[in-house]
Amino acid sequence: MRRRTYLKTTGTALLGLAATGTAVADDDRRGNYRPGGPWPGSEHAYNLNAYHTNEELAADLQRLDRKSDRISLTQIGRSAGLGGPIWEVTVGDGDTGVHLINQIHGDEPVGTEVTLSLLRDLALGNSKQVDLLLDELSFTVVPRVNPDGAMFEYDIDDDGTDEWIGRRTNTQDWAEGDSAYRPSYHYATPDDAHPGYDMNRDFNIALDADAIDEQDGSWSQSDSGVNYYDVEYEGYTLRSSGLMLAPEVRAVAASALRADPDYAITHHHQGRYLYPGSGDGNQPPKQTIMSVMPAYGEAYLDRSPFDFDGADVEQVVDPFIDAETSERSLQLNVLVEEALGQRGDSVFDSVTRYGYYPLWGSYLDTVCPNTGAAGLLYEVAGQTDDRGQQGFGQMVQATTVGFMATFEAMADGSIDDVDAEKYWDIPLTGDPLENPHGVDLPTR
Ligand SMILES: [Zn+2]
Repeated sequence: MRRRTYLKTTGTALLGLAATGTAVADDDRRGNYRPGGPWPGSEHAYNLNAYHTNEELAADLQRLDRKSDRISLTQIGRSAGLGGPIWEVTVGDGDTGVHLINQIHGDEPVGTEVTLSLLRDLALGNSKQVDLLLDELSFTVVPRVNPDGAMFEYDIDDDGTDEWIGRRTNTQDWAEGDSAYRPSYHYATPDDAHPGYDMNRDFNIALDADAIDEQDGSWSQSDSGVNYYDVEYEGYTLRSSGLMLAPEVRAVAASALRADPDYAITHHHQGRYLYPGSGDGNQPPKQTIMSVMPAYGEAYLDRSPFDFDGADVEQVVDPFIDAETSERSLQLNVLVEEALGQRGDSVFDSVTRYGYYPLWGSYLDTVCPNTGAAGLLYEVAGQTDDRGQQGFGQMVQATTVGFMATFEAMADGSIDDVDAEKYWDIPLTGDPLENPHGVDLPTR
């Protein structure tokens, strides 16, 4: 029987994975304002009892597939380390395509759990709401991109037994010949025993792994010895591009190209942030329940929160996303903020904007330009050991509300009436709250 330990904070530093180099300021202007290291996020302290193991996930999906002729279940790949199946579920007959991926970071599991509930409803439900979604939308869902990270085990308390803790990366070695240099987003444990990729940095604008010619790009090295791969593409320099070295990424990219969606959605967790303006005067400080992020092009260049002197356009916005698609992306964000805000002055009325800038190795910034999809990234406030099950329940609820608000608006067409300008009224994410682990957790 697998041990499911509710982790204590003590000793978590043992797991601090060393990056291939220490992220430094000069890396920050390379599209890595919040570099993915040196902590790939494994300091989260989850009660994993609430989450599906890979085996449980497979069993649930196969049960739905047997019970319902509405859904189609396909194994589209295997993870690099455990060989765990990457599942794709398609459901719905509508003209509007939705591509949804969860848990590309293995320790960010709430999207997977909410998606399983959604799929259960779509497969077996008979409500008007279910009928509407099935008639109008075609979902292509990868419930869990990162089986390796989801199930990652490590002897975190040094008691001679591995504990199931999960982590951000997959489990995959980098070897000479995989690429000319070991890329910035490959991490190793101090003992080099469990290396792996941050897979939301491994995508490439080509999206088709077979179409990538490493010669089309160039390598550079930061002062601290981190290797970055930059691609010259349509007159732009796509810094810190990925090389699609992870089989999971190749499977997701192929899934997205097949689906050719109108909307591309990816779910993540973030650390804890103060809701801006709260904590003043007599107002108690309030935590942000969720941040949302669009992907947009030059139509909104002058409003970018991350413009800086000498920046190239492609460091600030995704120039391959047209104005109409950019607007739809903002509309998605507004829908989530308004749906959670309708609950009045509660913990849910605290959605913030995760300031957008392109990451050229990420799912959104490569899938949206290739498919014309409008993008949305969720960052639900991560569960921590001092919030426990209440935190889990709130993350599930916030994600469910966001999913349903956006899917219903796509299905009934009301998304077209959403005022995209309201996006700019959503406050930018506030200051990080001190977390029990004393480190800033990387996000996205
Ligand atoms: Zn993430």
